[in-house]
Amino acid sequence: MPRVTLNVKLLDLTQNALALIYAACRQCYAEQFAGDIFDKIKEGQDKQAAFIRKIVSSGHESPLEHVKFTFAIEGVSRALTHQLVRHRMASYSQQSQRYVKENDFDYILPPSIENNPQAKTEFEKIMGQIQESYTKISHLLAGQGLSGETANQDARFVLPQAAETKIIVTMNCRELLHFFKHRCCARAQWEIRDLAEKMLEQAKVRLPEVFANAGAKCEALSFCPEGERFSCGRFPVKEKTK
Ligand SMILES: Cc1cc2nc3c(=O)[nH]c(=O)nc-3n(C[C@H](O)[C@H](O)[C@H](O)COP(=O)(O)OP(=O)(O)OC[C@H]3O[C@@H](n4cnc5c(N)ncnc54)[C@H](O)[C@@H]3O)c2cc1C
Repeated sequence: MPRVTLNVKLLDLTQNALALIYAACRQCYAEQFAGDIFDKIKEGQDKQAAFIRKIVSSGHESPLEHVKFTFAIEGVSRALTHQLVRHRMASYSQQSQRYVKENDFDYILPPSIENNPQAKTEFEKIMGQIQESYTKISHLLAGQGLSGETANQDARFVLPQAAETKIIVTMNCRELLHFFKHRCCARAQWEIRDLAEKMLEQAKVRLPEVFANAGAKCEALSFCPEGERFSCGRFPVKEKTK
């Protein structure tokens, strides 16, 4: 039942991403059919890159919806994925606690608890106890004649939010920009912020034209919209910019 850490891998993104975004923008204003000019568009990378940087900075984001990124994520808690799936403009596939036994579940140890020896001892003690209870309950349910899945789906009710999970998420570029604005912010909970920062690093490498300046909302605004109480102080709060 080891402690585990975050691992994020970009599985794939839409092919010809730049050409696709560019074609979507062009179709709005061009008389020609994008289908007829797409092969030619694919050749003009430099022109497209400059154009796309411009539309991103001007906030015309709907053409970005045509390009999607898919990330595989492991070493995160159920507490994290509960927050992640609140982002509705996305697709998810998460490891099942019904079909996958949690007899030896891994867990996420928050840094604050890791740095406090007494809290850490208490945390690790309860993880061990939960493990024992989970295994005992699933054996009792199986002995009662329930199938493995049925026993798992009920035994999992004792599992903690710290339990490790794996999930695949697909978001289009517009949703990713939105996700980064909220989840790279210092106000976001540390675990989902770590995840967002790792996703952003990889998105920047693959599509800098869209993501070079992405991040917490303050970075685009040059002020903090969170107000005095919640601001991390990196940028002045909105009221102080007037
Ligand atoms: C720091 C922080 C603290 C939070 N604290 C809490 C909390 O205490 N409790 C809690 O419940 N949640 C909390 N949340 C979650 C938050 O309220 C949102 O549910 C989550 O961030 C998803 O954001 P979203 O709805 O903007 O985005 P998405 O679901 O990703 O949607 C993207 C955008 O699409 C549009 N959209 C999507 N669905 C609709 C719709 N049905 N109608 C109209 N427009 C739509 C909106 O413009 C939305 O911004 C917190 C989030 C953060 C970042």
